Amino acid sequence: MRLAIISDIHANLEALERVLEDTELMQADRLVCLGDIIGYGSDPAACVALLRERADICVLGNHDAAVFSVPERAFFNPNARAALSWTMAQLSEGDIAYLQGLPYRVSTDNLLFVHSAPRAPEQWDYVFSGMEARLYGRYFHERICFIGHSHVPGIYPIDPGVRGYSHSQRYVINVGSVGQPRDGNWRSSYGLLDTVAGSYENRRIEYDVETAARKIRERGLPTRLAERLKLGE
Ligand code: ZN
Repeated sequence: MRLAIISDIHANLEALERVLEDTELMQADRLVCLGDIIGYGSDPAACVALLRERADICVLGNHDAAVFSVPERAFFNPNARAALSWTMAQLSEGDIAYLQGLPYRVSTDNLLFVHSAPRAPEQWDYVFSGMEARLYGRYFHERICFIGHSHVPGIYPIDPGVRGYSHSQRYVINVGSVGQPRDGNWRSSYGLLDTVAGSYENRRIEYDVETAARKIRERGLPTRLAERLKLGE
């Protein structure tokens, strides 16, 4: 089985469409979304619609939760807050009901999917280093825990002696961000797991970043949100 795992789309339709094209090209059998479909970008309703149709599994991100839950908004910076109120006005009741119905975690086929971290995903903790990821190893029993949230891709073995990816080892894997990468590379990031070949690949996909940035400015969203797309930060 080939699994495409995407995260942190952040209403970037140009990026999402290109990534979905690539998952088809790579003949992915299933699509998993790790949340943060919305927030920051110019096309929240279109991105929700596309994922409602296409994602086989989707878990809740903190930006998705902020639409219907007030405590999540406390951690938002002014740009995220401005984007949130604009985003809320774009979503239909059906879109909001869909987001409200998303689970914090999904476990299937020895894989765990969460937005933030395997221990208490509703607390939205960040996993930034291999050492942190290893400490989380005891909070899940599946072979791999897939995460997003930091927008920085990484493959973190639970066993400190392991290098690279092997199908017999346990990992926390951050698939990176489709719509707002923050590792200095503007290209969309997502993960491709092949359970038959025993391989994992972090793919980077070029998209029309100029159009995505222009639309953010045209919608009157904070200009910083347009600038950071091109810088990958
Ligand atoms: Zn995010």
